[in-house]
Amino acid sequence: MKPTKKQIKEFALSRGLDLFGVANIERFENAPKRMHPASIFPEVRSVIVVGRRIVRGGWRGVEEGTYWPNYAYFDYSGLLNTYFLQLPLYETACYIENFGYEACPLYSGITNEKDPPDAKPLRPGQPTPEVNLAIRIAGVAAGVGEIGWSKVFLTKKFGPRQRLAAILTDLELEPDPLVEPNSICKLDMACVRGCLGAIPHFKEGKYIEIKIENKTYRWADIDFGKCTLMYHGGDPRVSPFIPKALPGYSFDVMAQKISEECAYKFCWPMSTGRWRKSAEFPSGYIIEGHYYIQFWGQGGLGIGCSRGCMRSCFNYLEKRGVIQQRFKTGSFIKRPRWLLDKTGQPLPPEENS
Ligand code: SF4
Repeated sequence: MKPTKKQIKEFALSRGLDLFGVANIERFENAPKRMHPASIFPEVRSVIVVGRRIVRGGWRGVEEGTYWPNYAYFDYSGLLNTYFLQLPLYETACYIENFGYEACPLYSGITNEKDPPDAKPLRPGQPTPEVNLAIRIAGVAAGVGEIGWSKVFLTKKFGPRQRLAAILTDLELEPDPLVEPNSICKLDMACVRGCLGAIPHFKEGKYIEIKIENKTYRWADIDFGKCTLMYHGGDPRVSPFIPKALPGYSFDVMAQKISEECAYKFCWPMSTGRWRKSAEFPSGYIIEGHYYIQFWGQGGLGIGCSRGCMRSCFNYLEKRGVIQQRFKTGSFIKRPRWLLDKTGQPLPPEENS
């Protein structure tokens, strides 16, 4: 017996997933081989993309500037990504296989889109390991949402607040309709104003574009060197932990011209490195606050916590009534926003964006 899309969707949602969509394999015709689902599973006929919401309250403590652990522990790289999303994903794959169709649940944490310099294919004519399905593009192809100007995936239910995962299957399923480009992202640039300089303004004309069927989707060509510094603990403007650990330190992220890889290389030891305990620095960590965030978040360096691309974006979309999930107590951003200068000292609220 062949399961219907309705049965699979009902099962997936009953297990705790919030979002479900299907792409047929033809929608990936423009995907490079290294990012093509058929490079992983040559018989694939359908790509199922599922999602689970990030609770709005996950960012509350960071928005107030008072509490960092829960976004790392639950929402960024912690339990949502490693368990809350993956368990129902896996159960849905088991459900499909009960009907005799192969279902390949994908771990979407692999990010090497380019060939490593020394990599060789294991068989002639195929890409080298590891192939990486771009989960956000798969989400667009499955009609789950669109990629916003900020490059964050947006849905009508939650705006930017979800994590996605996918199942490849040889079961043929009816594809869901594609979301109309810019039916969720309003190109209002709230993300640009809330971010500290990694997202170019629409007027700069720097964008990435893809085409699926007859629809064209565009998003900003993000400066990932700066984005990584801001998000992963290299920017004193959004980390109250840096001045405590490195008094007198000053670092101007906007003056840096570095790649994403280089930025990670800079941030990683700041969050994971140890130093000898001394009277001046008794903790034994290079930056104690960053160490605990990556520890709670299972290795994720979630320090900056998406000031613009997530928090400003869903605040804007909620206010404009674009997001279906409503909150009875008003907007997410309720007070003047905090921001530090490049030495980590608080700026007065009126200087905040
Ligand atoms: S804030 Fe969100 S909706 Fe507005 S332009 Fe940015 S991504 Fe689009």
